[in-house]
Amino acid sequence: MARLIGPSCKLCRQEGMKLFLKGRRCYSEKCALARRDYRPGEQGKQGKRPRKLSAYGLQLREKQKVKKIYGVMERQFRKYFKEAKRLKGMTGENLFLLLERRLDNIIFRLGFSLTRAGARQLVRHGHFLVNGRKVDIPSYSCKVGDEISLRSKSREIIGVKEAMKLSQDREKAPWLEIDQENFKGKIARLPNKEEIALPIQEQLIVEYYSR
Ligand code: SF4
Repeated sequence: MARLIGPSCKLCRQEGMKLFLKGRRCYSEKCALARRDYRPGEQGKQGKRPRKLSAYGLQLREKQKVKKIYGVMERQFRKYFKEAKRLKGMTGENLFLLLERRLDNIIFRLGFSLTRAGARQLVRHGHFLVNGRKVDIPSYSCKVGDEISLRSKSREIIGVKEAMKLSQDREKAPWLEIDQENFKGKIARLPNKEEIALPIQEQLIVEYYSR
């Protein structure tokens, strides 16, 4: 299965914003963007600013940020966009709803992993059940009412325990019911735009694919 590769921090520095791809480090002073707030490569080191972006460049960058945040490749992202367009309502908002409903994202939001990439790996290794049945497809699209639980034999995984502990201090997704004691969570409803809380102008992505 294709996935984004390469140093995660470089991706943030390319975009000039925190994409939170490394879990705990992202919230600490060790964050690469906090220490080296310039673009990767020689020009960045010399403090050269990238030339002013064209309208197309801005649209492209916005799309790339979202792909990196959710860890989705172009082909799949394009499919999400097509589906978002087909659905009723605003295409940009639909796009985010589809991405938020991915199982790996839900597991990250529930606090079982510090990153979406970590959540993806846990899903692939078959550690989670959806409504009591094993699902090992990270892109699995969850619905309202679905119950996601960690299998009992997976509850001792150190990374999961650590993530659950740290997530207690993290802002909770109000659209999810989290039951940490029983290692499970439920999708109470779908989030609204404000609750997704990503500094992205989705309209630019819509414009990118509508060229
Ligand atoms: Fe991005 Fe900072 Fe996290 Fe690295 S540590 S992935 S630069 S937010």
